[in-house]
Amino acid sequence: MGSGGMIVLDDSSCMVDLARYFLSFTANESCGKCAPCRLGTQRLLEILTRITEGNGTEADLQTLEEFAASVKSASLCGLGQTAPNPILTTLRYYRDEYVAHVRDKKCPAKSCRALLKYSIDADTCKGCTLCAKACPVQTITGGPKKPHVLDYTRCIRCGSCLDACQFGAVHVE
Ligand code: SF4
Ligand code: SF4
Ligand code: SF4
Repeated sequence: MGSGGMIVLDDSSCMVDLARYFLSFTANESCGKCAPCRLGTQRLLEILTRITEGNGTEADLQTLEEFAASVKSASLCGLGQTAPNPILTTLRYYRDEYVAHVRDKKCPAKSCRALLKYSIDADTCKGCTLCAKACPVQTITGGPKKPHVLDYTRCIRCGSCLDACQFGAVHVE
């Protein structure tokens, strides 16, 4: 990536978010001398951010490829010429992850917070109440030794219930 450093990632790393992370760095580093890099990296970053927030569309994938190619070919120096590489590489090798974000509104790596959906398996729940106590927005209900219920419409996807449950009853997808 970038200067040639090697990064080892497992399947809990989202490739779309990884590209967004690298673009945020290059967009910040752009000196602004030429428009393709100055404006192009910002537009690319906006699209990637939109996708990781669950608001992307399938048309965004083609736009990403077209913008990335333009920024690469029209930028004046190496920063702009290589800035789109993380996008092009992840689109080439992990396109299915992009498609899952824009079409299914899911993050396969379970990393993009806006796309997560938490639930409680009533058959596995022991009613220990720890998740309800841990939830900062009190969206989990249920009494001691009774299956708990999670209202995902009010969930802010903080993950505290998943961390609190010692019985594997909280699921996230
Ligand atoms: S490509 Fe180079 S010269 Fe052009 S804005 Fe980016 S950093 Fe500046
Ligand atoms: S993810 Fe956070 S906000 Fe959502 S139900 Fe669990 S503890 Fe509550
Ligand atoms: S922490 Fe797990 S077992 Fe305990 S009430 Fe919540 S979901 Fe059920």
